[in-house]
Amino acid sequence: MNADNNLLQPVGAVKGIGAEFEEILNGMGIYTVKDLIEYLPYRYEDYRLKDLAEVQHDERVTVEGKVHSEPSLAFFGKKKSRLTVRVLVGRYLISAVFFNRPYYKKKLELQSTITISGKWDKHRQTISVSEIVFGPQAKQHEIEPVYSVKEKITVKTMRKFINQALSQYASGITDMIPEQLMSAYRLPPKKEAIFTMHHPLKHEDLKHARRYFVYEEFLLFQLKMQALRKFQREQSHGIIHQIDPLQLEGFTESLPFPLTNAQQRVVSEILTDMKSNYRMNRLLQGDVGSGKTVVAAIAMYAAHLSGYQAALMVPTEILAEQHAESLAQTFSSFPVTVALLTSSVKGKKRRELLKRVADGEIQFIVGTHALIQQDVHFAKLGLVITDEQHRFGVEQRKVLRAKGENPDVLFMTATPIPRTLAITAFGEMDVSVIDELPAGRKQIETYWVKHEMLDRILRFIHKELQAGRQAYVICPLIEESDKLDVQNAIDVHSTLVHFYKDKWNVGLMHGRLTSAEKDEVMREFSENRVQILVSTTVVEVGVNVPNATVMMIYDAERFGLSQLHQLRGRVGRGSSQSYCILLADPKSETGKERMRVMTETADGFELSEKDLELRGPGDFFGRKQSGMPEFKVADMVHDYRALETARSDAAKLVQSEAFWQSNDYRELREYLEKTGVVDGDKLD
Ligand code: ADP
Ligand code: MG
Repeated sequence: MNADNNLLQPVGAVKGIGAEFEEILNGMGIYTVKDLIEYLPYRYEDYRLKDLAEVQHDERVTVEGKVHSEPSLAFFGKKKSRLTVRVLVGRYLISAVFFNRPYYKKKLELQSTITISGKWDKHRQTISVSEIVFGPQAKQHEIEPVYSVKEKITVKTMRKFINQALSQYASGITDMIPEQLMSAYRLPPKKEAIFTMHHPLKHEDLKHARRYFVYEEFLLFQLKMQALRKFQREQSHGIIHQIDPLQLEGFTESLPFPLTNAQQRVVSEILTDMKSNYRMNRLLQGDVGSGKTVVAAIAMYAAHLSGYQAALMVPTEILAEQHAESLAQTFSSFPVTVALLTSSVKGKKRRELLKRVADGEIQFIVGTHALIQQDVHFAKLGLVITDEQHRFGVEQRKVLRAKGENPDVLFMTATPIPRTLAITAFGEMDVSVIDELPAGRKQIETYWVKHEMLDRILRFIHKELQAGRQAYVICPLIEESDKLDVQNAIDVHSTLVHFYKDKWNVGLMHGRLTSAEKDEVMREFSENRVQILVSTTVVEVGVNVPNATVMMIYDAERFGLSQLHQLRGRVGRGSSQSYCILLADPKSETGKERMRVMTETADGFELSEKDLELRGPGDFFGRKQSGMPEFKVADMVHDYRALETARSDAAKLVQSEAFWQSNDYRELREYLEKTGVVDGDKLD
């Protein structure tokens, strides 16, 4: 490669870019000539002449016409002015308005030809002019790129820089995408795609050019993920679990029900990982009630059979307690011990417990973050499972994985993640999906009602309670807030206490209670000493009270679809018909749409796709720990097909010998090396 076409030179190598501009460009993430050439416009200015009849109100337009009247000039204030002139454009007589440009008055001669660009006010038949050429249309390029720019760099400067870079270095542009994929997808050569993006002749050309960048971006990303997965597997020295199939079968058969097909499938995927020499790094997705806990129990028992301990980490104390209880029950006729470790376990009790864990007397330990404290040591930790995976940050995932010597790791989540997001956010993981509910589940009946129906709903709840059932009432906030006119748990609690007087006990739970207080309320509810539980969303995750059949949600429009679905999943866990009542007066269209979708769909995956559509990928996981990669051109939601294609292409590539050896893939290998996925010495 000679110096003239090396795109990786500092951007200062482009003529006209001095130290000062280089620094600003660096600040924009543009370091090399390549970065500059690939800095694509975020929109285009369209200077093509149009027939005004086809232009929408408020649209930008460029027209050519003849000055048809003497301009009239009006001043207001010292410096402000408005210049108006009539212009004949084809068969239309329109007005052109210039703000604060009084000096144009002399230049606008009657009958002279002008070309003006600006916003078209269809009602007033007026263009407010932002650009004028005193003469006929003379733009070289009718569509001009607009770049996002910074400080001293204007859009015009940016265009100049990019054009200069292209004239010096275009010969160095090569296709990153391997040839066979280029032709399979009929992608334009990268050089052509880059030229089109910077200088399109027609808007239609952009679409074709964009395809190159979308696919390249996805392919590079997926190559990174797939290479990472491959190396993690090859280098992880995972535990090769020795699992006696007969003994494991004995356990599975002790369960009070047969596994669903989906459960069987994911169990076998998990066991394959556990028995292999690589470390399991698997995400288990399954809708609420799909039976993930049982799958976890089977995996834990398998670890035990091979002589290892297993840990289950969950986000809340209540959930930890429930899981510990249900596992203890599941394993009651097997010679294993299940222990619970949360931050409420303190002092001597904690020390004793930790000692028994360290000595290997405890086989299964369930806990919250308390599990990843420094002083927690395991005798022989072979399997780590986390529930509600996306609530844990990436860092916590790592700490947990570092306990024990390369334990297998299974992340469970009941929040169905749209496939597009799952393969992006968890790109380097394997994914198992339980896409089937146990047979005989009754559909939860979901209703959307207005607040004015509250009395009727409360009487309906009363009937359910008379039949021996219980109810949840969920509110968005704890206390009254000036900003948001929303019902709050404390208010609602007193309303209900008043309404049901001494007929029913109404409990209150929210995030400001201590965990001991929360546990107490939860216990009262699960033992039916409290019949109605008013709560904020702290009950969202995993809580299991099968006798509860009503889930009423106040101001339901405040919640996202996935969250509503999680809340709904708290009922319908027993054999009786359950109900979900959404109390909402949504004002926005999307709010109404969310309520409609909830009443029509029970499928978590479908809802999550819809949620993604309504909220966008940025919001899906919540801002804090999204860990989502940002794509410059590609859009995960709209280009999902390309994303999936790129994933399978990348997987095939990293598995092939040729990819690691042939010269055809050198550039891609260098890319992986540069991003730190592959050590240099792998690339001889
Ligand atoms: P998840 O954690 O996925 O929300 P759980 O594991 O808590 O679901 O299971 C929900 C309920 O379904 C539990 O009461 C569980 O005992 C029951 N269950 C799980 N698997 C089956 C099955 N194959 N057949 C019948 N019931 C099942
Ligand atoms: Mg669960």
